[in-house]
Amino acid sequence: MRVSRLFMATQREVPSDAEIPSHQLMLRAGLMRKVASGIYSFMPVGMKAYRNIENIVREEMDKAGAQELIMPAVLPAEVYMASGRWEKFGPEMFRLLDRGGRQFCLGPTHEEPFTEAVRDTIKSYKQLPVTLYQIQHKYRDEKRPRFGVMRSREFVMKDAYSFDVDEAGLDVSYQTMYKAYCSTFDRLGLDYIIVDADSGAMGGSGSQEFMVKSIVGEDAICYCSACNYAANEEKAQCGVPEVSDDVKNEALLDVEKIYTPNVHTIEELIEFTKSGPEAFVKTILYNIDGKIVAAMVRGDRDINETKLGNLYDATEMTLAAFDDVERITGAKVGFAGPINLKEKIDVIVDNEVSVMKNFIVGACETDYHLKNVNIDRDFEATKVCDIRNAVEGDKCPKCGKPLSMCRGVEVGHIFKLGTKYSSALNCNYLDKDGKENPMVMGCYGIGVGRTMAAVIEQYNDEDGIKWPVNVAPYKASVIPTKINDEEIMGLSEKIYAAICDKNIDVLIDDRNERPGVKFKDADLIGIPVRITVGRRASEDIVEVKYRATGEVKEMTSAEAIQAVLDAVKA
Ligand code: ATP
Ligand code: MG
Repeated sequence: MRVSRLFMATQREVPSDAEIPSHQLMLRAGLMRKVASGIYSFMPVGMKAYRNIENIVREEMDKAGAQELIMPAVLPAEVYMASGRWEKFGPEMFRLLDRGGRQFCLGPTHEEPFTEAVRDTIKSYKQLPVTLYQIQHKYRDEKRPRFGVMRSREFVMKDAYSFDVDEAGLDVSYQTMYKAYCSTFDRLGLDYIIVDADSGAMGGSGSQEFMVKSIVGEDAICYCSACNYAANEEKAQCGVPEVSDDVKNEALLDVEKIYTPNVHTIEELIEFTKSGPEAFVKTILYNIDGKIVAAMVRGDRDINETKLGNLYDATEMTLAAFDDVERITGAKVGFAGPINLKEKIDVIVDNEVSVMKNFIVGACETDYHLKNVNIDRDFEATKVCDIRNAVEGDKCPKCGKPLSMCRGVEVGHIFKLGTKYSSALNCNYLDKDGKENPMVMGCYGIGVGRTMAAVIEQYNDEDGIKWPVNVAPYKASVIPTKINDEEIMGLSEKIYAAICDKNIDVLIDDRNERPGVKFKDADLIGIPVRITVGRRASEDIVEVKYRATGEVKEMTSAEAIQAVLDAVKA
């Protein structure tokens, strides 16, 4: 492609509403344009990188035996009604009416239409298993679209669905997809970890997320360097910690009431009592589908709302309203405590609190706390279990070694759905004995745009993107330093034509611009190999620079062409 003809506009300035490197670079390099909040167009250069990712995803799906098809993005409401998701999606679903007033939506995910298609096509166990996929636009009216295509409202997802006769079959289909995902993300050059994810809300038997390690990631991940355990914060289990002999032998002291005027938060309490956060237990009241529940965790821990919510199969969960807190505790907000609470509401106590001694809690009396409180002696729990987020240094639930934490971007998600959708939509098959059974399903998603952004997060520097060759929109750029010099232009065209001949995407920067401008653009859009043709053109010598390493070499034109071939092959 001739840069003089390329539909591309790069920008020197960092766009003001882009907070993270990938978003900034995708706009600066002119890969995409914002159309509305969370809605983007890809420009030709961006489109090429995007297609390269999409093709890798497609090749790995095909290799795994999945069959590609395409479903509509506009779907009638009835498709989602049978599963209950027409209501469940709530405001995240884009809804529309046709001219006759019929309700439609823009598909947020396609479990239901795939299940219907298989239900209407497959009758017998002999036709199973089958795995189908599409690479299709999805629509979700996200509460907080941000970070460009990382969290957008229109995005492309590769979604696959497997259908098996039983759980054992599902295990095989799931493993096949797991391996295909590993190959896909390996080929994209990503540094990722696979974590156990929460499957509570979607009602399945197992689920894993592919997380690209990145400080801009929205998910917190706990992982163990000693064994291969990894889980996202929502899922990582926190057991009952071992306690030291000192704590074991500590005598239970008498409860004391302490006057703590205007001390509402844990931080204020730490300051006021000059004790560490491990001396406190906070009691937080939630409204879970209309029922008020108290949750108790150590002062410096965060309550994990997913774990707490899963205990009640919650659909809606919020902090309890101020007047509920005041009515139940008899005190202003900030002074809730467990004593006598169980007579009124459930008291869910975190595992860690169950081995603490002589701790401080709210007194259920405005301006007072209680010191030396102990579980069992002073109050009863409805249930002791795991309701907090894991933290750095917690024991690995698999091997007991301390856990590490990092942040990650979820690029893929694989999920054992079981019979949730097949039962709801009557997607059955006849077994050997002619008996009807629901198919056992799995679903598997990769966000193509989000993956592109994640690649950029892992491959960039202050000059721009450093595409891995597999993804790069153009593998090489030939840069003549002067376009009106016959020798320079002649050699540049020769190299360009030779690389084109090998069916490799290559640019020739034939613009009448200073070399500095051309170099900056090539670096910004992340071209892996840059071939500069300049003052030694008459000797057939050019300069080759590798974007990934910054390495610069002088070589003959034939060697430079070979260098591009080698880079593409590697
Ligand atoms: P998240 O927790 O980030 O909202 P999700 O759990 O809703 O994601 P899934 O329904 O599992 O996502 O979708 C499968 C894949 O689609 C995700 O792994 C991600 O790569 C991609 N994806 C989901 N939502 C978005 C979005 N708003 N923008 C871009 N990609 C998305
Ligand atoms: Mg997910």
